[in-house]
Amino acid sequence: MGIDNSVSAEKFCKNFKVEISRLTEDDMEFDMIGIDASIANAFRRILIAELPTMAIEKVLMVDNTSVIADEVLLHRLGLIPLDADPRHFEYMSENDVPNERNTIVYKLHVSCKKGSPWLTVKSGDLEWLPEGSRLPLASPAQSRDKQKTYTSFSRSQNDILEKPLGVKFKDITIARLGPGQAIELEVHAVKGMGKVHAKWSPVATAWYRMFPEVVFRKEIKGDNAEKLVKKCPVNVFDIEDLGNGEKRAVVARPRACTLCRECVMGPSREQVELRRVRDHFIFTIESTGGLPPEALFTEAVRILEEKCERVISELS
Ligand code: SF4
Repeated sequence: MGIDNSVSAEKFCKNFKVEISRLTEDDMEFDMIGIDASIANAFRRILIAELPTMAIEKVLMVDNTSVIADEVLLHRLGLIPLDADPRHFEYMSENDVPNERNTIVYKLHVSCKKGSPWLTVKSGDLEWLPEGSRLPLASPAQSRDKQKTYTSFSRSQNDILEKPLGVKFKDITIARLGPGQAIELEVHAVKGMGKVHAKWSPVATAWYRMFPEVVFRKEIKGDNAEKLVKKCPVNVFDIEDLGNGEKRAVVARPRACTLCRECVMGPSREQVELRRVRDHFIFTIESTGGLPPEALFTEAVRILEEKCERVISELS
């Protein structure tokens, strides 16, 4: 019998389901049932590349006498996940001047006194400056680009945001300072997308797998059942007692199957079949911290909806 690949809105509305199986502050696993692989993949790609976050883009270096080269230090700073909701900010274009709506400013000033032991500089040492840059304003004559002169914001971000901003993880090592060494700099974070640079990707990873289906072609009983249960590294099978000393293998936890194919090697090869359910996806989202994972998924749905609306309006 052929497989029905036809798409209809009615079929989709009837079959589509989302079931959350795990939700923590940082990650989420859920089942999407009744969708095509192309739509599951569209969500994955939007999550990785098209959902905006705030990330450090510019670094104004005052002093760096540590052993880490400026470029390496700047790259590390760029990858620190910031605890800032991107929905409260606007994109900054080439000609925009930094303001409280498009830029977040942090300061880092750490020094290791002479005669002290080595000091570790952590991401938690970044201090949010709600009033904007504290570095002296470069005059247009001093600055190579008039638009890139930095100054305080006209309004404090404390007035427009609900909570103070910071970094998501305070214990990320940025550098180690020896006695007499210091780092002093100011960083400017702006809104961007993962398709421009991975530092803006809101997820550590977003991936899915098709729901595994383990099927017995015929019953597996007795010693063979015991052997099959021992073969599976993730305990997909159990033994069912049929009475009169008879036992048979049953598929108890198909979701745990990693499709390692161990059970289709050796004598059980002919009896076990591994399949995947074509329209059932187990989706995992690991947030880097800007937004909780459930909000990331909701935003991804919104972006896909906007794209569809744009296509429909272009066509009509
Ligand atoms: S494929 Fe591997 S994980 Fe899946 S049931 Fe077989 S042995 Fe277990």
